[in-house]
Amino acid sequence: MALKVVARKSGLHGRGLFAARDLVTGERLIEYHGKRYEKGALPDLEIDGVTKFLGLSDGTGIDGTGWAALANHGCEPNCELREHEGRGQLRAWLYTLRDIKQGEELVWDYRLDVRSRKQAYSSWACACGAENCRRTMADPDRFKSTRNKVREIAIADGNSEHRIS
Ligand SMILES: [Zn+2]
Repeated sequence: MALKVVARKSGLHGRGLFAARDLVTGERLIEYHGKRYEKGALPDLEIDGVTKFLGLSDGTGIDGTGWAALANHGCEPNCELREHEGRGQLRAWLYTLRDIKQGEELVWDYRLDVRSRKQAYSSWACACGAENCRRTMADPDRFKSTRNKVREIAIADGNSEHRIS
């Protein structure tokens, strides 16, 4: 099978992932590989300003080290991460959300779990260039619903994570 993705320098941030050939909607691309973390043992997730930490729906996480972790955030994503059970644990794969032309950058919506509105628009600002860019990689649902100061302080020490929405 022909290679589906390639990694190269991105106009968005650092290196990104790109379609190595034309892709169709719903195509499974690559697995999100990395160091696994048990529930309740999640690490500090901010490394060199790059977030690669993926929180899974069962509370475990993956600190991404593979190619999938290179995929950048986009507010108008052409990909998403989906979870599947496999070999006794939850695993995550990047899937296409629409047909994608060879050479297009592959992006997914990180929806970071940042509860401070201020942090969301400063530390996690987005400039993806999409027409409806929401100006943050954070999940707006997380900080719209709460203005609890204690939670904002708790998150100020750099705890944040990728959540699969
Ligand atoms: Zn954006």
